[in-house]
Amino acid sequence: MSDFSYKVDADGVAMIVWDARDKSMNVLTREAYALVDDYIDRALADDAVRGIVITSAKKDFAGGMDLNILARLRAEAGDAPAQALFDFTMNGHRVLRKLERAGMDAKTNKGGKPVACAINGTCAGIGTEIALACHRRFMTDNPRARIGLPEILLGLFPGGGGTTRYSRMVGAMAAAPVLLEGRLLDPVRAKGASLIDEVVPADDLVETARQWVLNATDADIVKPWDQKGYKMPGGAPYHPAGFPTFIGASAMVNGRTQGVYPAAQALLSAVYEGALVPFDTALRIEARWFTHVLMDPTSSAMIKSLFVNKQALEKGAARAADIPDQSVRRLGVIGAGMMGAGIAYVAANAGIEVVLLDTDQAAAARGKAHAESILDKGIARKKITAEHKDAVLARILPTTSYEDLSGADLIVEAVFEDAAIKAEVTKRIGSVTGDECIIATNTSTLPITELAAASPRPVDFVGIHFFSPVDKMNLVEIIRGRDTGNRAVAKALDFVRQIRKTPIVVNDARFFYANRCILPYVNEGIRMVAEGVAPALIENAAKMAGMPLGPLQLVDETSIDLGARIARATKAAMGDAYPDDAPDEVFFRFEEAGRLGRKSGAGFYDYDDKNKRTGLWPGLADFYPPAEVQPDVTEVQHRLLYVQSLEAVRALQDGVLTDIREGDVGAILGWGFAPWSGGPFNWLDRIGAGPAAERARELADRYGPRFDPPALLDELANQENGFYDRFAASQAA
Ligand code: NAD
Repeated sequence: MSDFSYKVDADGVAMIVWDARDKSMNVLTREAYALVDDYIDRALADDAVRGIVITSAKKDFAGGMDLNILARLRAEAGDAPAQALFDFTMNGHRVLRKLERAGMDAKTNKGGKPVACAINGTCAGIGTEIALACHRRFMTDNPRARIGLPEILLGLFPGGGGTTRYSRMVGAMAAAPVLLEGRLLDPVRAKGASLIDEVVPADDLVETARQWVLNATDADIVKPWDQKGYKMPGGAPYHPAGFPTFIGASAMVNGRTQGVYPAAQALLSAVYEGALVPFDTALRIEARWFTHVLMDPTSSAMIKSLFVNKQALEKGAARAADIPDQSVRRLGVIGAGMMGAGIAYVAANAGIEVVLLDTDQAAAARGKAHAESILDKGIARKKITAEHKDAVLARILPTTSYEDLSGADLIVEAVFEDAAIKAEVTKRIGSVTGDECIIATNTSTLPITELAAASPRPVDFVGIHFFSPVDKMNLVEIIRGRDTGNRAVAKALDFVRQIRKTPIVVNDARFFYANRCILPYVNEGIRMVAEGVAPALIENAAKMAGMPLGPLQLVDETSIDLGARIARATKAAMGDAYPDDAPDEVFFRFEEAGRLGRKSGAGFYDYDDKNKRTGLWPGLADFYPPAEVQPDVTEVQHRLLYVQSLEAVRALQDGVLTDIREGDVGAILGWGFAPWSGGPFNWLDRIGAGPAAERARELADRYGPRFDPPALLDELANQENGFYDRFAASQAA
């Protein structure tokens, strides 16, 4: 069996049906593409064939291209990877262009065979690009199906003709949300955006497409750009209407990407330059820019972390294979506050029965109401139906009774961050649950091994650390205490799979992994304030390095008193080992001044009546006058990125991290570490261990021992090795 099948029906319609072998979703491989090429030739050459319908035998139409192909192509091409990638891309253009021209006469545009695409479910990436090359697109009316071109989110852009075709169909401005933001649209919105032509009830989909093929005329199948007098909608770059669009788009892209995502700029160049030349030349230009992006280390790093390795982790790379399925049937959540309510919602949304327990019924009910408010927003945005909302809410039982927890196979504790309260709660859970139940804690700072002592079986106790807000943040950090067994970890992993988030598994140490690395980032920003570095320089340097939030904005969001509390608690716990306390003084001063961050309407930033950030607080200059001589932006960026990355290396060296893939994926999803870099280990590999260690030493000389290169970095530098080279053997990267 091959990935595509070909059959001509009694009416002379050639059905090309996509059904990738051994996969639940259609992804395009090189072999499969060759097959499509053959089938198109066959259909066009066969006089008995009147037209073609392309569809899928799976639940969805297509997930996109098998991105491993790109890495393989590059590896196979030896000295000329750019040529190989360009040839590969041009070959794709040739196939889809053949489909689009469908055998019609080059001059008269007559005599071609109509090609329709019957999109029976979600359709992304190359799937959408194939559809765009067809003459008419029909999509199922299933409101959960999505169609789009999300390549930009992986550091690529649609390089299978999608960029050129779609921008020529709707114009540069209208194409921006789909091409530049990678937005996936439901069928109704997709029709509004001209990604598809018709929304059709699922049962009639293929037949409608077939009928269209049988009735289409010559004029129906000529693309606008193949007709005389074609003009780009909204205006080409040198048209008075198009000119401001392109000028504006360039500024917008630079503003959003801060220049660190080459794909967005390349996409824009492909659209701009392509708009000035005939279609086939535009495809060639698109292929050149696509090759340029593929050759940039940013795209391979992003694909590696955000696609290949993220998927491997989601599929259970860290899970012991000999443990049977541990899917959660009934979940207990203790503490219906911000985190507990969020956990209850995501679990119920994934079909799991949830018991949500708090000290009083009103608090438990408030937790359930949180789920309701998220669901209501989904309804308002037409993302979910009222029935879905009712079904999810019906799965959440708010209660104060521990008896209701009986039958739960996983219980997550999310009460106040207080070891004594947590121990008390854990004991009570232990007294009502059976031997099968795994107990988890959502603590962000307390050692799992110590919390486990209150549980009946520390082997069945594990940390499951969610990030806030739970419904939006996709990373879950699973923490193995000293005694945690493989079944508890497998349970946590299976739970994370059920709620469709990405897990990393780390060992128990202060702040685990994510918080361990993000705190130095915040602290470094605050230290700079104390040193007199201009706050705007700190914030902008961070964003220009690709961090989603500057450190001062981040601390305003998470609250300054939390920073002060963590500082006090850490100092108490570490005693003399506590490092110098420069950032603490800033935290305490702000705390005293009542500037606690966004929640108090005042922090490093000012906020208006609606709690909207209005700008950096001018009074900051009185607290910490800016120094006369300011550092250059690269120096500030290096301080901010190295301080996180070196901590990530220490986490690996100390055995908190056991897999660098988890270190990179966790950094991007957990705290937004410069996604373009592919994570701290990819970033250090790109710099090279030698130069990175040298730069760290320079920073240490200037700013203090927190920048001292960890022994592992020096070791790799001495061996002229990289993190992925060194660790890839044990962890396929
Ligand atoms: P919260 O104050 O919003 O909620 C805590 C809830 O626990 C409250 O509803 C409270 O009534 C309830 N509670 C307290 N004692 C209880 C008891 N004995 N029995 C039952 N319920 C009890 O706190 P939160 O922000 O949701 O944090 C909860 C846990 O999650 C903490 O351990 C925290 O460190 C951790 N955490 C928080 C975040 C975050 O960003 N807020 C992120 C990750 C982890």
